[in-house]
Order: sequence, then C-alpha cells, then structure tokens
Amino acid sequence: MSLRTRFAPSPTGPLHLGHAYSALLAHDTARAAGGTFLLRLDDLDRSRARAEWAAQIESDLAWLGITWDGPVMRQSDRLPRYRAALAVLWDRGLLYPCHCTRRDIEAAASAPQEGAPLHGPDGVIYPGTCRPHTPPVGPMPEDCALRLDMARAAAAAGLDRAPVTYTETGVAAPPGPLGPEHFTQAVGDIALARRGLGAAYHLAVVLDDADQAITHVIRGADLAPATAIHVLLQRLLGLPTPVYHHHRLIRDAAGRRLAKRDDARAIAGYRAEGRTPADLRAMVGLPLPHHLGPNTLGG
Ligand code: GLU
Repeated sequence: MSLRTRFAPSPTGPLHLGHAYSALLAHDTARAAGGTFLLRLDDLDRSRARAEWAAQIESDLAWLGITWDGPVMRQSDRLPRYRAALAVLWDRGLLYPCHCTRRDIEAAASAPQEGAPLHGPDGVIYPGTCRPHTPPVGPMPEDCALRLDMARAAAAAGLDRAPVTYTETGVAAPPGPLGPEHFTQAVGDIALARRGLGAAYHLAVVLDDADQAITHVIRGADLAPATAIHVLLQRLLGLPTPVYHHHRLIRDAAGRRLAKRDDARAIAGYRAEGRTPADLRAMVGLPLPHHLGPNTLGG
C-alpha cells in the first residue's frame, strides 16, 4: 500500500516556522516514498477561519516548494459527514447532550471537595454534570454540545479485552496499552460536537483521515496525547488506524513553542525579508530535497 499523508492547518492565522517544518516533513516523506501528499483545511470553526488565511497558507506552501495531490479538503464542506457519524454514536447510546458553559465546567471541576481540576488531552476533564444515568432516547438534538459517555464508549469498544495501542514512529512515547480506566479517568467525557460548530476536532480528524485514506499521520508532538482518543473513535466507527509519527516541535531561541500569533515568525515575514525556501529548511533542520540540492542548482 502506498504511503498517503497530509498537512491539516487551521486557517485562523499565518503559518509559522513550526508549520513549515510539519508541512515539509510530511511532504518530503510522501515524495521520497513515491506516495501521496494531501492538503486539508481544518476550518470547522467558522468564526475564526478566514478565506484570506487559507489563501496565504496555500501561497506559503507553494513558495516552500510544496505541491499537494488533488483538491484541498475543507472541513467546512463536510458537516453532513460528521453529523451522520454522530448519529451512529447517538443511536448506540454513546452520546448525551451537554449544556454546560466552560465556566460551569471549571466551577464544577474545582469545587472544594474535588480539589484542583484535572486536565486531560482535551482540557479540564468533564465532571459529568449532564451525564444521564441511562442513554437518552429520541432524535439527536441539533444545536448543542454532544459528549461521549466514556464509560459506555470504552465498553462498546471492548477496551477491557483489547486495550488501545497504535504504532508511533516519531518522538512521542510509545502508546498504551490503554484500557477503560485511562479513558474514563485521564480523558473523560469529551465533546464530539460543540454548540454552533456541529462537530468537534477529534471527530472531524478521524473521519477526514479515514476518508482521505491516510496511512501515515505526520504532525506535531503536541497532538500525541490526543491520539489515543482518535484511535478509540476509529474503533467505535469501524475505521482503520493509520501509523502516527509525532515530530519534535520547533521552538524559539528562548525555548518557547512558536504560537500562531507569533507574527514575527510567520513564513510571510521571512518571505518579505528576502529569505529563501532553502533558508527556512536550514532553520528547521531539514535537508534540501534533491531537486533543490547543489547538484541540480550547481549543474
Ligand atoms: N489542525 C490541527 C492543527 O493545526 C492539526 C490537526 C492534525 O494534524 O491532526 O494543530
């Protein structure tokens, strides 16, 4: 099976050096293997995604020498797909509606008897305020958050018999095996739909990767802790699990992770300064691809 990978930025700001590294690494890996490299825009959050940022991303990637195969996938086009998957989980009694605000969750999770709120890969672990004793019946509600009942989901996925594990080829710690307790205690009832968004990142990413037949997910190590969630969702939805390669994060001189807001490090800024794609490759520690190498350029 030939290697298929992707780069999936959110068009909510400029690409920075960390994105350049991620995109170049995925692209070079696909090209070296004679495989496929796809571009996907994680633009689920319509209030933050902007067409101008999407255009800038495509321009920066092209400038870096990155080519993608086939059309760009946009999450904003795929809401019916996400809602259909949610309906499957709803019908199996694995979801419940949640009306808590972020503030409600913080307050309930840090109530005196609870101690300091526990954090999982998805933020504060949901304290279970809206979780029903028995699965809700009737049609799936439209405009509210839907949470995964993790205890039921872990049972439905058979985690006590077959804990979650997957292949990690990057810098992240080897995963698992992760049984039901990991998911109920260290992850909790994550939201798979958010009010006003229709779907949440964890659900969208597993459906996108499956529909694009991604064999290798190459992305930053910041997403390694969320990967067990993705594999659990793949199990529940009967989707294949790709190989995961979480790469090192590019940090600034002070050792801080580059945030998207750090405009000083935007690729567009380097372009405006007259830096070359080869300069950026050197900055993130990637070799020049053969077609940019001295043999080609120097004749
Ligand atoms: N859109 C995500 C980000 O920019 C990447 C998601 C992924 O690669 O799975 O962090």
